[in-house]
Amino acid sequence: MKDESASVAMDIEGLSIIIPAYNEEGNITILYEKIRQSLSSYDFPWEAIFIDDGSEDATPGVLEELASREKRVKVIFFKRNFGKGAAYSAGLKMARYPVLATMDADLQDDPAEIPKFLEKIREGYEFVTGWKYRGKGYIGKSLPSKVFNMVIRKVTKIDVHDFNCPYRVFLRGAVEPYEIYGELYRFMPVIAASKGYRIAEVKVENYPRHSGKSKYGLERFTRGLFDSLTIMFLSVYMKRPLHFFGSLGLVHLFVGFFTVLGLYIRKFLWGYPIKDYQFLFIMAIFLMIASVQLISVGLVSELMIKLKKQDAKFYYIEKTINFE
Ligand code: UDP
Ligand code: MG
Repeated sequence: MKDESASVAMDIEGLSIIIPAYNEEGNITILYEKIRQSLSSYDFPWEAIFIDDGSEDATPGVLEELASREKRVKVIFFKRNFGKGAAYSAGLKMARYPVLATMDADLQDDPAEIPKFLEKIREGYEFVTGWKYRGKGYIGKSLPSKVFNMVIRKVTKIDVHDFNCPYRVFLRGAVEPYEIYGELYRFMPVIAASKGYRIAEVKVENYPRHSGKSKYGLERFTRGLFDSLTIMFLSVYMKRPLHFFGSLGLVHLFVGFFTVLGLYIRKFLWGYPIKDYQFLFIMAIFLMIASVQLISVGLVSELMIKLKKQDAKFYYIEKTINFE
């Protein structure tokens, strides 16, 4: 993707890599070693923030051991499993450097590819997302993902092939911790683009998970469907829900009002009794009541958006290591 507006070259003053880990005992040490190698030629400071999302295997022990000998490894231990979105939120909140990265803990994303992302940041892009251009393995996973991406691309008009790719590098502020609760972390590029951040895409390889098993099964389908609906709504009307519910409400109001008006005009001018059109009359009144409800929902939604920022606690932390 080429965007002429990305002309401001940017110096990287530090990188925080955020890695959610849920039952990843066999992957963490190897992953960290690969990150270290990949970043060895840079002289900016960096940190790798692992979020132990309530693992039931040996992940906590592996992380404690790694963090005890590597000061660049920071760890957030959740009290229980809160999900990947919560893990990202906690990581974003605790990260200290101006450039942020996310990747999975299972080695499906190769740290050797980080420099490609950083190159784009240096060119002046502000949100660089990976594109797993070789597909996502078996058809049960690749087909929904293709449809999902196509729908989101059409609706949001953002020219990205792989919205859901967990491998991303972006500037602080592109996504805020409170914006990615639930499943919404999947739409980070949409969130960043809606704020006007310059988006770029780099092709990345998609390796098989190194060890352990995937945490997501069939529920991917239904989740995908609801997530798409949410994001369509959020990306178009995130800032002004009243514009959505309000215009729907106004349409109802106008149709209802002019129907009633028409019936009365017919009655007074030509003497047609309204009761001959009882059904239409009731429908029109109903539409007007519905319009009041729609407008109220819009107003309540506006209020919720105002309140949401303060109410961002959707995980609980047991302890942290290596954060000053
Ligand atoms: N993950 C997590 N909490 C969860 C589920 C997953 O932190 O509740 C992490 C997991 O450890 C991995 C990443 O999210 O680092 C992606 O998970 P997974 O590889 O299972 O997903 P897939 O690649 O199969 O889509
Ligand atoms: Mg995986």
